[in-house]
Amino acid sequence: MIIAVDGPSGSGKSSTARGVATRLGLRYLDTGATYRAVTWSAVERGLDLDDTAAVAQRARDLELEISTEPGNQFVIADGTDITAAIREPRISEVVSKIATNLDVRHELVRRQREIIDDAQPSGGIVVEGRDIATVVAPDAELKVHLTADQDARMSRRGAELESGAVTAEQLRDQIVRRDADDSTVSQFMVASDGAVTVDSTHLTLEEVIDVISRLAKE
Ligand code: C5P
Repeated sequence: MIIAVDGPSGSGKSSTARGVATRLGLRYLDTGATYRAVTWSAVERGLDLDDTAAVAQRARDLELEISTEPGNQFVIADGTDITAAIREPRISEVVSKIATNLDVRHELVRRQREIIDDAQPSGGIVVEGRDIATVVAPDAELKVHLTADQDARMSRRGAELESGAVTAEQLRDQIVRRDADDSTVSQFMVASDGAVTVDSTHLTLEEVIDVISRLAKE
């Protein structure tokens, strides 16, 4: 069983996909974390992010361990726990550049498919990202395209606002900018054939998890 959950940043796909996996007793893979891990490694080593060959080589050489337990997420790269570091603004600001590197995508899709295969004996996996239904797992049993309007996506990132890390204006700028950056990889983000679109704008997290869990049982 594979459930694909694709959607833009802030659509609530992480909490949703994790919640569905927990509810259905499945594994969970955050593919965005794999792009963030390569970005972290390239930044940490001071690579020129425009040097596509060097960055792709880093992606191939990186030793990456990523948890598929929905209730215990961690990412370890070359022996360092980078679970928190990959969420830092310095990574979010440049990750789209790494995600447009086709050799990086090729390598990460290969690794993601391995993780998905490994999860099958335990019942299956919920995979979240941008290109899951179209590229990574086109044969997924359920394909969900999660959307939400911009205000809803902003308020879901409210914790960052409350912590004082960013202002509302900075947050809106970040969302608009990452959408624009990600639109350069838009060929990976189109809604796939057979995908069900779920608009979460007016739904609570529990309601979205209910809808998707029900679809998975159909
Ligand atoms: O999901 P998250 O926002 O953590 O993803 C970080 C970035 O990784 C996205 O902005 C996008 O550029 C890239 N990404 C991707 N394909 C995926 C998952 C993420 O290109 N399947």
